Formats: sequence, structure tokens, C-alpha cells
Amino acid sequence: MVCIDGGDPAYLRQYLAEGAIPNIARFMREGFSVIAEGTVPSFTCPNNMSIITGTPASQHGISGNYYLDVKTGEAVVMTGPELLRGDTILARFADAGAKVVSITAKDKLRKQLGKGLEVSRGNVSFSSEHASRCTFAENGVDNVIDLVGMPQPDMYSMELSLFVLEAGIRLLEQRRPDLLYLSLTDWVQHKYAPHEPEARRFYQEIDRRFGRLAELGALVALTADHGMNDKSDAAGRPNVIWLQDILDARFGKGDTRVICPITDAFVAHHGALGGFVRVWCQGRARPEEVMAAIHGIPGIESVLDKATACRVHDLPADREADVVVISTAETCIGASQAQHDLSGLEGHRLRTHGGVSEARVPFILSAPLNDEYRLKAGAATLKSYQIFDYALNGTGES
Ligand SMILES: [Zn+2]
Repeated sequence: MVCIDGGDPAYLRQYLAEGAIPNIARFMREGFSVIAEGTVPSFTCPNNMSIITGTPASQHGISGNYYLDVKTGEAVVMTGPELLRGDTILARFADAGAKVVSITAKDKLRKQLGKGLEVSRGNVSFSSEHASRCTFAENGVDNVIDLVGMPQPDMYSMELSLFVLEAGIRLLEQRRPDLLYLSLTDWVQHKYAPHEPEARRFYQEIDRRFGRLAELGALVALTADHGMNDKSDAAGRPNVIWLQDILDARFGKGDTRVICPITDAFVAHHGALGGFVRVWCQGRARPEEVMAAIHGIPGIESVLDKATACRVHDLPADREADVVVISTAETCIGASQAQHDLSGLEGHRLRTHGGVSEARVPFILSAPLNDEYRLKAGAATLKSYQIFDYALNGTGES
């Protein structure tokens, strides 16, 4: 099972049409493929948790990378395993006697993915970010750099993802795990659009490795945690709504608190700008007034009160803000302009995610469904869109 972080269907559409990703094309031809709808907010942590728990965010509790603890007024990082509610499929498989391997690019995800996974019993859980520091006690494997035969990859590189796949291939060759979860990082998709050569090279590299996994006998499942959209104008400037500045001007400083739940420790490639933010009302401003102030701002797709946001997007109420704001595909939302550092974009167009427009993801299996799952796929639960047909019969998009 591979989560292609930021793997927007647009990349597959481009490279399938070019014939650049033959292994994925074969999976789609011989196996199964649809576009599925991921969790909103379309961020990394909520969707990885939905994938490995099989539950919506309302149940697993991880509705972003950050939430505001209203008791302390502190923004809390949501990557701790203690915040994840319920068991993971990985831990349940391991408890039932299966050998499980979980590898992620960024270490922030490792602990949640590894929740309840007993690494002393031959299971493995590590990140390529911390590959050089793996120990048997903590990760169930050591000498990972030697095992993989690649140098420790840089945080901002495509190698951080390729290392995950290479490690998965080595472990599949040597240990034959029953379940392998490989979660990549979206650095490439944040930086490069589908037509850019670096993105094409990345997809060719990962496609080759998917082919190798299948060759080794794995049933390969591919999906993504979220898509990616270009959110810059014709001149290359990011289309940003600085929501905290707008609300401060209207209600005064301190009355509202805008939290950008895309934020993590590595934001250079997107400046912590995404398509989904949360607003807590801390002073006199009431949620209805805040919503009225945001309605009608160009680039805003929806403004929801807490109850509606939880119902529509299946989110945990105890971690939700008073107001949820989602932007259109072409726009992103920030807090105060002064708080966001966009220097890391280095002249690249801003590409990011978080909204409903980035929630559609590919869902591909290297083998066909059995009858039971064919019925499930036909039901509303997968909300599938057969837009990949042309890859199968060459007759164009349908
Ligand atoms: Zn992601």
C-alpha cells in the first residue's frame, strides 16, 4: 500500500497520456482504478490516519496538523499518537500475527502510523527522515542506510520519497512482510506542476519501483492523501487571502484567532498556506458576525459554522473551531501576512492543498476486485468517478 503524498490525479492524467508510467497504466488496465474522495481538510495527517484506520476524522480525531487548545490558548501539534483515537489496521494485522512494515518520509507521521505496532515482534516502523538513527528497540530495524544503499536523503528532495520505496522493496525481498505501508512526501508536487520535467522524472522513478513491488509478488495499492493545485496569478504571485489581517481590521486584534492546520516544521515549499483554515472566536466577535465578514470575499468557496463543518466533512467537534473557511481551487488562505515566510518558494509558483478542490485522489489496485469488493465499489461509499477510462482504452477522457 503506497500513499503518494500530494498525488493529484492531474499528474497521472498527464503521464498516462504520455505513456510515461507503464506500471501504473498496467495496474489500471488489469486491476482496478477510480478517483476517490479523501478527507477534508485535504491535508497529510488526517488522510494518512483515515487510510490506516479505515475511519473518518470524526472517529480517529486527527483533523489537521494543528488545532487550538481553547483551555490554554496554545496551538497543539496533532501528530502525537495519543491524539489518534482507536486502533490502526496496521496494529490489528500485527496483533493477528501478520508481519507489518510501515515506512514514512517525514518523521512527524511515524509515531501515529506506528501506534500500537509492536516492533519487538519483527514489525518495522521508521521514517526516511531519521533513517540514519534507526534502532531495533525503536524501529524494529537498524542499519537502514546500508540496507537501502542510498545516502541519508535531504528533507527537501524527491529522494526522501524514493528512499521509502527502496526500503520497502529491500524489506519485501528479505523479510516478506504481509502488509507494507509506504507513505511518501509531497515536496515534488508542491514545487512542480505535471508538465515540469522534475515531476515527470519523479513519477517515472516511483512507477519503476511500483513495478518492482508487483514483480516481487505484492498486490500493489496506490492512493494519495490529497491533491494539489496551482494557487498563483498570471504574474506568478500567490493568490492569498490574509484572513487574520481582514478579521483584525474588522473586529480588532485578539478577538479572533486564525489557525492554518497545514503548518508543520517544514513549510518552506508552501509557506504554511493551504485551502482550509479554522477561526476561533476569543473575544466579543460572535461566529455569525465572523462568518458574515468572510462571506463574499473573492476566492472563498465556503464558510461553515462548527456544527455544519463537522456534519458536512465528518470532523471531530471537540477539535473544531467556531468557523471553518475553505478557499477555491485557485486561492489559498493565510493568517497574517507578517507571519508567513514565502522566501522558501524561491520564485516557484505556489502550489498547495487543503480544500475540497484538492480532496480527490486516485485509488488504484494492481489486481481486480473480488465480487464482494466490486459491490462495495459500486455503492456510494467510494464516490467514484471513472475518469481514467481513456488510460484503459485510449479513447480520451470520459
Ligand atoms: Zn500530504
